[in-house]
Amino acid sequence: MAGVVVLPVEKLPKIATTVTAKPEDKKVIPSTQVDAVAEFLKNYSLYVQPTESGRASSALFGLIRENGTKFHEGIDFKSFLKDKSGAPLDVVHAFLTGKVAYVNTAPGHSSYGRYVVLEHEDFLTLYAHLQSVDVRVSDTVAAGGKLGILGTSSSCISIPNSRAHVHFEIDFRLGDETHFAQWYRRNYKDQNFHGMYNGINLVGVDPRQIIECFQKKQSLVTYFRDMKEAATVLVTSASIPEFIKKNAKLFAPGIDLTRPVQAWKIKFTWYGLPFHWEPIAPQTTLPKSQSPSVSLPASSTKVQLLSYRISLLRSAVLRDVVQEKQSAKGTEVTLGTRILNNLSKIGF
Ligand SMILES: [Zn+2]
Repeated sequence: MAGVVVLPVEKLPKIATTVTAKPEDKKVIPSTQVDAVAEFLKNYSLYVQPTESGRASSALFGLIRENGTKFHEGIDFKSFLKDKSGAPLDVVHAFLTGKVAYVNTAPGHSSYGRYVVLEHEDFLTLYAHLQSVDVRVSDTVAAGGKLGILGTSSSCISIPNSRAHVHFEIDFRLGDETHFAQWYRRNYKDQNFHGMYNGINLVGVDPRQIIECFQKKQSLVTYFRDMKEAATVLVTSASIPEFIKKNAKLFAPGIDLTRPVQAWKIKFTWYGLPFHWEPIAPQTTLPKSQSPSVSLPASSTKVQLLSYRISLLRSAVLRDVVQEKQSAKGTEVTLGTRILNNLSKIGF
């Protein structure tokens, strides 16, 4: 298990390693994947790389940095093995069997540094800050297969060898190549080196919760069905974007996407993932919203806020999903830029 920094859980294989653990590491490194997954969920602090704060929780997914104001979209797995100069030697393994969707080998082109995106049946996984990459786009990599070597690469974050890690995400891609490119051109002047696999087109979910689903053999359909929404919006558009066709199994289970629609009721998580889609058929009365509708910049699509969770708003964890303004009329809640941007990236 030495050097296993990401835990592949598919079929729970025992993985071969290319490096040998130092004797002192052996007591904390489990010998099988079943053990590894259970051990990680129980004692994650042994496997993650905290920020300078030293708090293990700072390596996890969520608003766990800078007093709960900074979002971290994945988990940072630490390095166990260094060469004499202190450079990391750990092999980064694939979480599940997948196809290589994207590789960035130019560390200066992304805050992720060198990174790999794998496409799996239900989602994408992303491995960032690598020292070197061993795979190419379109390669199929088995669960536990080698992707590269863990490192410190990034265009803008300075990561010392002492805090070398692999930043791991479980992601959903918002826009396809065309729609994301259109959104990017409207919002940025600089070049997009990464096409639709640019980090701002990917929304991460909590890897620990997904790992737990695998361990308990709980279906991801159930996981997303039971997820709490921070906001529900009404999107008036007859289009059926690639995002929902691709993710229908998880986000619109049982829905017939060949039928015409006049609008969508979409639920968003507090970090902006549109995880539940309900089509509204033509000639059906649309639900009423109290908030004014907003038109998306590139289309005639109208978006309205139908409901939101005040508890999430008050704890300030909505990340621009909705915005609260104080006016003469009292507290006014409006759609946040994250929802509007994510809908635009999707192609509305
Ligand atoms: Zn990270």
